[in-house]
Amino acid sequence: RSNLDSTCPVLTTFQKECDTPTPFLRNIANAIADDMQAGLAVEGGGDLKMLLTYVDHLPSGNEEGLFYALDLGGTNFRVRSVQLGGMEERVIVDTKSEPVSIPKELKTGTSKELFGFIASKLANFVANENIPARFRLEEGRKREIGFTFSFPVNQTSIDSGTVIQWTKGFKVSGMDGKNVVACLNEAMEAHGLDMQVSALVNDTVGTLAGARYWDEDVMMGVIIGTGTNACYVDQKDAIPKLQSISSSGTTIINTEWGGFSKILPRTIFDQEMDEANTINPGEQLYEKMISGMYLGEIGRRVLLQMCESSHLFGQSVPVNLSTRFALSTKDLCKMQEDKTDDLLIVGSILNEVLEVEANLEARRRVSQVCDTVVKRGGRLAGAGIVAILEKIEKETKRLSSGQRTVVAMDGGLYENHPLYVEYMKEAVFELLDDTFASLIAFKHTKDVSGIGAALLAATNSIY
Ligand code: ADP
Repeated sequence: RSNLDSTCPVLTTFQKECDTPTPFLRNIANAIADDMQAGLAVEGGGDLKMLLTYVDHLPSGNEEGLFYALDLGGTNFRVRSVQLGGMEERVIVDTKSEPVSIPKELKTGTSKELFGFIASKLANFVANENIPARFRLEEGRKREIGFTFSFPVNQTSIDSGTVIQWTKGFKVSGMDGKNVVACLNEAMEAHGLDMQVSALVNDTVGTLAGARYWDEDVMMGVIIGTGTNACYVDQKDAIPKLQSISSSGTTIINTEWGGFSKILPRTIFDQEMDEANTINPGEQLYEKMISGMYLGEIGRRVLLQMCESSHLFGQSVPVNLSTRFALSTKDLCKMQEDKTDDLLIVGSILNEVLEVEANLEARRRVSQVCDTVVKRGGRLAGAGIVAILEKIEKETKRLSSGQRTVVAMDGGLYENHPLYVEYMKEAVFELLDDTFASLIAFKHTKDVSGIGAALLAATNSIY
């Protein structure tokens, strides 16, 4: 027998507060655009950092030779070697290491420990690789690395920069004001590795650069994984804070859009999650509504409240539901996706994860919670994409002149959850003019950020 109240005020309020009707979404897109402009005007001018990447030349297809890519910035760490075939062949042979999950204690340990760990993995990889004769490096030539480092970095050149702020659960000590590349170089030296970083790039930048190798119309790179971020190609003369450096041609701007924190549809659950279980409360509020690290946890908190005040699963509250991060984003997404009449998948996940038997009414409510979280996330991501597309349009008029414009997308949430993507695209198409919308293509560029980083190492080779 169900003890469920006939109405569920917690759910109704949550749905209402998460709602993002088109006019509100338009306001959000505009607010993001304002913060982009402010961030381009002066360092720290807006919530979006709009970081200079010093990537002024995108891959042309001529790149040739052996380059490496190191990827650090989320759940996993990865090494790869990339053999670039050059203009004639255009073939890329890409050898990847197994993804290594970063031990939790290293995420909040010292820089020495973290970079020592990376260098040791790198040393293993290099020791075991098999390079065809054509790609072997001449005597004395160092192996060059494109280092994908996906945290906000104050970059001072293509191969140097300092961490501005840690995100996504990382907080590494001993790096204040220190060049990230120097930290890695020291660790590599300590491991006797004769390698050097020639390009320090964000994963969004790697994704854009990698995608650009095959498609000239790629103008944006977006990641929706553990965290979220976006970069795009801008005109240098449209970047006031760059004027003292140089002013012609194009460059990539790393927006760090996850930092956007204004007028968002924030609920009590977002606030409580932010305060109780993130290492950067008050920051990255957009990221915390959009990306994989957080969606499950928001859902868990809503369900917990529904149990406590509306007896969602009867009189008792499942023990697991009180455990932080007990509901993964993956499970939340699986429940949202369940379109069976009886919501049997929802039932089995609740059973597995929370050890409850949920009746159909309870399963329906859980499904609505999941849908609300995913929908809000997808639509907010869509608003950010529109803000950037409109900025690109303002500078280039490419859409008005009928030119196709491609957004290269990657990240675990984007990749694995088509309904999130649907909500995201819906929002983009709601906000954009139809003729513009028809010219936008989203391309899932799976795992090209490493290739992009290696390509940028080639473009910026010291030899
Ligand atoms: P990272 O961003 O850490 O480099 P990924 O891009 O692989 O790594 O993203 C991992 C994130 O993707 C996880 O935090 C998880 O929330 C999300 N994710 C992974 N698989 C799924 C899935 N099947 N459904 C929804 N989200 C998923």
